[in-house]
Amino acid sequence: MCAQPASVSIDDIRAASARIAGRVLRTPMVPSAILQERTGALVHLKLEHYQTTGSFKLRGATNAVLSLTPAQRARGVVAASTGNHGRALAHAAKAEGAVATICMSRLVPENKVAEIRRLGAEVRIVGSSQDEAQEEVDRLVAEKGMVMVPPFDDAAVIAGQGTLGLEIIEQLPQVATVLVPLSGGGLAAGVAAAVKGANPKAKVIGLTMERGAAMKASLDVGHPVQVEELPSLADSLGGGIGLDNALTFAMCRDLLDDVLLLPEAEIAAGMRHAYAVEREIVEGAGAVGIAALLAGRIRFAGPVVAILSGRNVDMTLHRRIVNGATSVEEEVAA
Ligand SMILES: *Cc1c(COP(=O)(O)O)cnc(C)c1O
Repeated sequence: MCAQPASVSIDDIRAASARIAGRVLRTPMVPSAILQERTGALVHLKLEHYQTTGSFKLRGATNAVLSLTPAQRARGVVAASTGNHGRALAHAAKAEGAVATICMSRLVPENKVAEIRRLGAEVRIVGSSQDEAQEEVDRLVAEKGMVMVPPFDDAAVIAGQGTLGLEIIEQLPQVATVLVPLSGGGLAAGVAAAVKGANPKAKVIGLTMERGAAMKASLDVGHPVQVEELPSLADSLGGGIGLDNALTFAMCRDLLDDVLLLPEAEIAAGMRHAYAVEREIVEGAGAVGIAALLAGRIRFAGPVVAILSGRNVDMTLHRRIVNGATSVEEEVAA
């Protein structure tokens, strides 16, 4: 968007929180007695999958749209995401009377296209890959002056996602460890900046799937790298971090205490536990915190908060996972 500062501070996040107040839900946080029994620590679940549009992405998208100048807002916003960012941007733009254009390839399933349209966006179907959809975004920015709102590597987006961290601190001031689902790192960077800004002793741990963890691979070698993408139950955690990453790589490197990778079977177990025990429907990406706690993967100090980041899962897939399937392949084979 505009000139990017090098990082996002808790003051930026407080400003974002004031800006988006009333436009996003303040989501509940609840204790989990069963996870407390299993882990011996006080465990709270931050029910962000209740957020409007089904994920925390509405926070960042709303802050980005509200941060535009009137002239930018009049030209409209654009993105290439068909997932939770696309939904969020469609909703956020419509709520402010702006036009969002979402570019997608013709391979995107009709139900996803319909959902983005229902939320009020203009849909442009171009080419047969995500790269071609992104090229169309670049063209609309260059030729029509539309403003691209990226899914994670943007100061306004990170500050918006960070408002989730502020809420956690307000709801459980003594929190010692926060478990954050991690992909491009907008959520983890924002939440860590907020939580550590308020309490520097608190730990923030990023969790992602073994299959195609671009941020983890990049942190391991010290600069952004590409990794091969494989289908995962945590499909919202797929995708790269951008070889020209400006903000989230450095923030995750500097602020996260650890990053852990989860196998598919553990993510499936997390979704199953969320449903059968906590009575919550979450997508794979939203289940990684519960998954890591159940698998005993984390050495952590309590109280711990696991962020349930989204609920946008295909319900046929969800039913099969709840009934015992442990991977996307098994789901396809079933
Ligand atoms: C986008 C997303 C994530 C990961 O967020 P990043 O900012 O890309 O790290 C996690 N969970 C859900 C449900 C998401 O939609």
